[in-house]
Amino acid sequence: MNNKTFPLSAEQLRNLVSQYPTPFYLYDEGAIRKNARAIKKAFSILPGFFEHFAVKALPNPFIMKILHDEGFGADCSSLPELLLAERAGIRGEEIMFTSNDTPAEEFRAARRLGAIINLDDFTHIEFLESAAGIPDLVSCRYNPGPLKEGNAIIGKPEEAKYGFTRDQLFEGYRLLKAKGATRFALHTMVASNELNIEYHIETARILFELAAELYRRLDIRLEFVNLGGGAGIPYRLEQKPIDYEALARGIRAAYDAIIVPAGLDPLGIHLEWGRIITGPYGWLVSTAIHEKHIYRNYIGLDASMADLMRPGMYGAYHHITVAGKEQEVPAETYDVVGSLCENNDKFAVQRKLPKIDIGDVLIIHDAGAHGRAMGFNYNGKLRAGELLLRTDGSVLQIRRRETVEDYFATLDFSALAQFSPERT
Ligand SMILES: *Cc1c(COP(=O)(O)O)cnc(C)c1O
Repeated sequence: MNNKTFPLSAEQLRNLVSQYPTPFYLYDEGAIRKNARAIKKAFSILPGFFEHFAVKALPNPFIMKILHDEGFGADCSSLPELLLAERAGIRGEEIMFTSNDTPAEEFRAARRLGAIINLDDFTHIEFLESAAGIPDLVSCRYNPGPLKEGNAIIGKPEEAKYGFTRDQLFEGYRLLKAKGATRFALHTMVASNELNIEYHIETARILFELAAELYRRLDIRLEFVNLGGGAGIPYRLEQKPIDYEALARGIRAAYDAIIVPAGLDPLGIHLEWGRIITGPYGWLVSTAIHEKHIYRNYIGLDASMADLMRPGMYGAYHHITVAGKEQEVPAETYDVVGSLCENNDKFAVQRKLPKIDIGDVLIIHDAGAHGRAMGFNYNGKLRAGELLLRTDGSVLQIRRRETVEDYFATLDFSALAQFSPERT
């Protein structure tokens, strides 16, 4: 059982809403920092621990700067994400560039920044060489295929588009070495939102065994392995959060069993966790603007799935509370919906909640990762802004809400005025 909290009282929230109208995202800096420290402390029993925060989870440079201040880098997968990391002051090998189907210009940008390039495919070795040259340090992404069972969100590894096969990996490092690379790393990512720590320990074991085999067969000594992202968070009340200490101890035991006897100690352990870093410390705050009763009871919010897509896209559960009514009995059953012309636009389906009145502020929990970031503009919806609750209790706007001008920014209305719709 976990306890869903919100860092402001109903009165503090009311004051905030009078200054920043809903909908908005709120992130809790103190809680994000505390979580980062707990992760660092747990993993300090492993040598060379480093977390590259997966930027796609929450691509806001203020958050990235806070995480950098806590000692984390960035995991990027596109040119804009690389540029965001640069803007946030994250440098060189603090950045892991884990991309796939990568355009040449993105490899060039990663090289310019000195990021660690993580290759997704054997053919990318020559592609990278001609696009940007082979750097000293190169990482390769492993797809264990049928060796590893998939989990619900990411699916089976052998059906996933990512990574090298096992044979390609050995050929790949051989080729990279021949082309002048001198430092090597190994990466995999085979889970998403996985709460079972055994799953993550097993992933570490697979990489450790591969590291030992690379050393034996190719005399390649890896600098670090990167276990990727995919650490889950307890979206549902009955789920339990990952125990960082237990996970780090499990990885340490596998390290002692495989890496130490192979003579490969110290081997760095890197992660590119996203969801677990910020997910529980962000909330989408929205106001009930309509109530309707047809075959079901509906509460209409001023936010929509354009702000938070996970429930509509994956049927994902996000806990919802009503500000000031936390102690009331959930006497009603509602579908909590947004305004998109799309019936999937529901934050909750047949959810038991206290009786909601128009004007009540609803708090959608665990929206701090893959939330605002997955938003979109379908139906001309303008995405919510982002607020940061600082550790001194003040609130800083770290991204304003979108405007119609933003929505129109890619259109040229002067060309439209000149445009004749007559057929040519
Ligand atoms: C999405 C992704 C991550 C982050 O995943 P989380 O589930 O947010 O931890 C890390 N690395 C890669 C390559 C990814 O695609």
